[in-house]
Amino acid sequence: MALIVQKFGGTSVGSTERIRNVARRVARWHARGHQVVVVPSAMAGETNRLLALAKEMSPSPDPRELDVIASTGEQVTIALLAIALHAEGIQARSFTGPQVGVLTDSTFTKARILKINQDKIRKSLNDGSVVVVAGFQGADEEGNITTLGRGGSDTSAVALAAALKADECQIYTDVDGVYTTDPRVVPEARKLDTITFEEMLEMASLGSKVLQIRSVEFAGKYKVKLRVLSSFEEDFDDDCAGTLITIEDKKRMEQPVISGIAFNRDEAKLTVLGVPDRPGTAFQILGPVADANIDVDMIIQNIGHDGTTDFSFTVNRNDYAKAMKILKEVKERIGARSVAGNPTICKVSAVGVGMRSHPGVASRMFAALGKEGINMAMISTSEIKISVVIDEKSLEHAVRTLHKAFGLEKPQKSTLSLTGRDETDIITPS
Ligand code: ADP
Ligand code: ASP
Ligand code: MG
Repeated sequence: MALIVQKFGGTSVGSTERIRNVARRVARWHARGHQVVVVPSAMAGETNRLLALAKEMSPSPDPRELDVIASTGEQVTIALLAIALHAEGIQARSFTGPQVGVLTDSTFTKARILKINQDKIRKSLNDGSVVVVAGFQGADEEGNITTLGRGGSDTSAVALAAALKADECQIYTDVDGVYTTDPRVVPEARKLDTITFEEMLEMASLGSKVLQIRSVEFAGKYKVKLRVLSSFEEDFDDDCAGTLITIEDKKRMEQPVISGIAFNRDEAKLTVLGVPDRPGTAFQILGPVADANIDVDMIIQNIGHDGTTDFSFTVNRNDYAKAMKILKEVKERIGARSVAGNPTICKVSAVGVGMRSHPGVASRMFAALGKEGINMAMISTSEIKISVVIDEKSLEHAVRTLHKAFGLEKPQKSTLSLTGRDETDIITPS
C-alpha cells in the first residue's frame, strides 16, 4: 500500500463530466489499496473569471480580498469531487487549505507555504477516506486566506506530499508529460521520460508553465518523487507513465546537450538612459523596484562613455506600468537623461545540464536565430541555460528554430559532440 498525492489541473476538472472521470480514476487507485490525497485546481477559466470580477470593481483591488475571491474556485471543485467519489461508492472528505492547516506567510496573491498540519489528513486517511484538499490556498497566522500564485495547486500538491512523506506525487494535466518544449507551439516536441530537477527548475523558471516553479523547488528540497502525466489517458499504473522528475542520474555517461526550449511571453523591458556612471546607481535604480515587490529578471548595464551609461532590465509584464512609474521618479533623483520601455518583448531559453561539458551551445543558438533574421535584444547565460530577449512577434518562429537547431525532435540520445547526436547509446528511462 502506498500513499499517493494526485493533483488535477483546471482542464482535468473543467466540467462535471471530467470531475466524474477524475473520481473514477481516483477510485481505481483507492481500490488497489492505496491511500489517496487528491488536490484539484479550480475548473478551467474559473480563476481568471473570478479575478476579472474583482477588476471590474476596481483596477487595483486589495490583494487580501483578491485571495478571498480567487480561493473560491478550488472550494467548488473539492466538494464536487468529493460528491463524485461518494457516487462511486468511495468514502471521501473535502477540506479547504485553511481547514487542513496549510500555513503560509502573508504575501497575498503569492504566498509561500510555511507549514502543513497533517493531523486532519492522517486521521481521515486512517479512517479509509480519500482526502480531497483544495489546491492554491492556505491561511496566514492571523487566519487570513492566502493564495500561492498562479499555477499554485502544483505547489500545494508537492508540499502535501512532502509533509505526508507520500510515496509519489502525481501531477495530472492536459499533456502526457514534460516535453522538449510546449507541444502547442511545436507539434514535433518530444515527451521526455525523465528530466532532472535542476533542468525542470530552469524550464519552469524560464516560462514552461507545466509545473509551478515552487513545486519543483519543494520536490527537490524534500526529495518528493514527482511525476507529470495525462488525466485523459488510461491508467497505466506502471513506472514508466508520463515524465519522472529525477535527481541527476550518475549512470548517464553523457547528457543530451540541450533538454528543452522554454519561453516566456510575459516579459517587459525597461531602460534608464544617461545614468551617471558612479558607484551605487544600480542600487538606487533597483532598490525602489525591489521595495515595490517587483521581481527583476535580466539586468544589463552598458559600458559607460562621457560619464554616463544605460541601464536595462526586464520584469513581468504585469509589473511594467508600476516599474515605469517608479523609474520616472528614480530618474529625477539620480539625474538620468530619460526612461524608455518595451512591454512587448519575450524570452526564449535553451536549457540542459549537458551544456556544462559542451562549449559552443551559445554560438549554435545565435547562428540559428541570426540565419532566420531574429534579432536579440538581451542575452543572459548560466551554467545550464542560455536566454535571449526577442520581440514578441518572433517568439514562435524562434522556438521552432531552436527546437530544430538542437535536434530535439529526434529520439533522446546522449551526445559526445554538438554535431553527432546519434553516435552513442540511447539513454533509457531510469
Ligand atoms: P493544469 O491546468 O493542468 O495545471 P497547465 O496549463 O498549467 O495545466 O500546464 C499544462 C500546459 O503546459 C500544457 O497544456 C502545455 O501547453 C504547457 N507547457 C508549456 N511548456 C511545456 C512543456 N515543456 N511540456 C509540456 N507542457 C508544456
Ligand atoms: N486555479 C489556480 C490558477 O488558475 C491554481 C492552479 O490552477 O494551479 O492559477
Ligand atoms: Mg498548472
